[in-house]
Amino acid sequence: MNHFEEYCTKFVQATGNKEGAVSTPITNSASFAYGDPVTAEGIFEGTVKKPLYSRMGNPTTAKLESVLAQMDGGVGAIATSSGMGAITLATMSIVNAGDEIISIGGLFSGTYSFFTETLSRFGVNSHFFDVEELQGIKNAINDNTKIIFLESVGNPNMRLPDIKAIANIANEAGVLLMIDNTVTPLCISPLALGADAAIYSTTKIISGNASALGGCVVYRAVNEGSDKLKTPRYKDLSKIVTKMKKMAFIAIAKKRALRDFGVSANANASYQTLLGLETLALRVPRVTNSVEIIVKALHKNGIDVNHPSLESHPHHQRYLNDFSLGCGSLITIDMGTKEKAFDFLNKTKLATLTANIGDSRTLVLHMDSTIYRDIPQDAKKFLGITDGLIRVSIGLENPQDIINDFIQARG
Ligand SMILES: *Cc1c(COP(=O)(O)O)cnc(C)c1O
Repeated sequence: MNHFEEYCTKFVQATGNKEGAVSTPITNSASFAYGDPVTAEGIFEGTVKKPLYSRMGNPTTAKLESVLAQMDGGVGAIATSSGMGAITLATMSIVNAGDEIISIGGLFSGTYSFFTETLSRFGVNSHFFDVEELQGIKNAINDNTKIIFLESVGNPNMRLPDIKAIANIANEAGVLLMIDNTVTPLCISPLALGADAAIYSTTKIISGNASALGGCVVYRAVNEGSDKLKTPRYKDLSKIVTKMKKMAFIAIAKKRALRDFGVSANANASYQTLLGLETLALRVPRVTNSVEIIVKALHKNGIDVNHPSLESHPHHQRYLNDFSLGCGSLITIDMGTKEKAFDFLNKTKLATLTANIGDSRTLVLHMDSTIYRDIPQDAKKFLGITDGLIRVSIGLENPQDIINDFIQARG
């Protein structure tokens, strides 16, 4: 049974119910009656497992969290109001003023701004590295380094990291590794590769159709014996780690971020996301297969397309070895100039012009004039943004229709 087939069964079974409502009920309530004071006390103490208040957890959202935790083999998960909410939760629950983050890879613009403009205001500084700078990453680790943050696929530079090598560096140094796996759910299993947390914007291919904004962080269990979290580097977390044992990451995220920042998922979005999950294992291979067909055809027709499935891509071998299930829906095409890029975008009849990715529909966007307009020139270079760069997220359409449309749009 291949990986996707396994998940077809898992997801549809996990989102259904054999006795009651087959589709997950939407619990549209912000608060929950406790009944009697002893139960209320138990709920607040954590000994009674009933909902406390929807900012801290909601039954519909809990269902989503359990399915996402299963997807990545985590001990638990926390769903959030957006992908940025998930990144906020994962990082802010760990760092204090004076701490440092090492960030590796292409980096989504929102994450880049969050690290450079927002976290820095709170005294948390980030260092950025390309996926190939392993020695630089090692050298940058010091006593204040709390998180190594990695994106599974450079968006939009399409560079692929050697995840195992980076996980080895993080684990040898005893630093937490968090992987933003938004672009490659099911293709990459961050926790199995040595990460401590997998981060998702579920807005993208997990929901899959622009119907719900959402995010999620899936955490590994904390080990009974020695564990990174039990070292002096994370001494400020030791009380929670001692008390909550294997569930400590979940407790840390709830107590040190979810409760106070309030980036909680809402029940309606969680329901929509669960619907998306039921078909995720069908959609991912459809998209990754289409991507390879489209990339090949565009390349053959002289379009400057960037994707690691091309032999000429510097990470082609890594793509074959480590990303054998594909690397998501993204490709980029470089039209050379802004003018030619705009011309292409005006002429495409099939693609939708928008900032999203991972949708049922094929989406396109000129990078430099939109998402990256406020990013300084040297950072653009690092992130791979050129004047004519268009990011494309391939959808579920017939790949030949996309090829035909793009070739006519190129003119
Ligand atoms: C979209 C995206 C995010 C942010 O998610 P939102 O749901 O838009 O907040 C984070 N990381 C990556 C890789 C993304 O593509």
